[in-house]
Amino acid sequence: DMEVAIKVVVVGNGAVGKSSMIQRYCKGIFTKDYKKTIGVDFLERQIEVNNEDIRLMLWDTAGQEEFDAITKAYYRGAQGCVLAFSTVDRDSFEAIETWKKKVENEVGEINMVIVQNKIDLIDDAVVQDEEAEALAKKLRLRFYRTSVKENVNVDEVFRYLSEKYIQE
Ligand code: GDP
Ligand code: MG
Repeated sequence: DMEVAIKVVVVGNGAVGKSSMIQRYCKGIFTKDYKKTIGVDFLERQIEVNNEDIRLMLWDTAGQEEFDAITKAYYRGAQGCVLAFSTVDRDSFEAIETWKKKVENEVGEINMVIVQNKIDLIDDAVVQDEEAEALAKKLRLRFYRTSVKENVNVDEVFRYLSEKYIQE
């Protein structure tokens, strides 16, 4: 069997939970103050989809979200993308389309998914369900609500991107 390796970039404003999501998915841990490991660009996890072994390489933008020149290098060769925003950060929701364009400018059209993280903080939500669903519909992207903290729906996001990729 040929091994399939997929590079996935996780993008979005600072503090939406990107690094935590990658840690959660690849290492199975959640910490309140995740400190980025210097020198590590990505973490990986192997899964099986339709009897195929998939190696997912999840690239983090290393907290340098505002520096275009640095993050562009991270996008190169990506075959999947998570566009992440936070339930409790309005700006991060409004930035989703900009993130989509940034990635597409570098790598063209790849499989993407919109993720609303921190769903455990739903009582303090600043984004209405209907708005998020409308955005996903407009951009024609699958939409997931996750809690990295409580490990809700994180596996599903990456499984979906893997399935999309091997269907091509
Ligand atoms: P990044 O800047 O997008 O990489 O965000 P981080 O992964 O560094 O997370 C920012 C903060 O949000 C950290 O304190 C995390 O512990 C916290 N966080 C991440 N995911 C969740 C979640 O699902 N729920 C809650 N309540 N906090 C989260
Ligand atoms: Mg980070």
